[in-house]
Amino acid sequence: MRRPGKMTAEVLRHLTLKPATRLYPAQPAVMPPNFRGKLIFHAARCTGCKLCQKDCPAGALEIRKVGEKRFEAVFRFDHCIYCAQCVDSCNRDAMESTPEFELAVLDRSTLRVTYHAIEAPPVAVAVVEGGAPAPAKPE
Ligand code: SF4
Ligand code: SF4
Repeated sequence: MRRPGKMTAEVLRHLTLKPATRLYPAQPAVMPPNFRGKLIFHAARCTGCKLCQKDCPAGALEIRKVGEKRFEAVFRFDHCIYCAQCVDSCNRDAMESTPEFELAVLDRSTLRVTYHAIEAPPVAVAVVEGGAPAPAKPE
């Protein structure tokens, strides 16, 4: 018969150790630096070069021009493989990976997300003396 001494010592040793696992989701998970989670788009920095769109291996990203120097980004987070290639391709820091990873949904249509363009600048109006306001002409 094998003596239980070695196993008992091992069991007692583990009783005093902290758990190797985390109590997620009861406790929030802290993701490591540079984690490649959900993407965000900084519309004010985008120049519309579309390098990110061209380099996306999953066809999960579309950059749309919606006005003069105004661009919006449409992500398909159900197609995205979270490789962050778009972040690397953008030399304007307009793409950013976040630590957000809890993206499971019942309705996948909600994973199509549009980050809208920056607000259009107000249209300048030149007031003609004695007449109706006329649109300003570019210089
Ligand atoms: S997000 Fe960056 S890479 Fe993509 S179109 Fe805008 S400037 Fe170009
Ligand atoms: S993280 Fe990768 S797959 Fe997702 S949009 Fe960016 S380049 Fe495409």
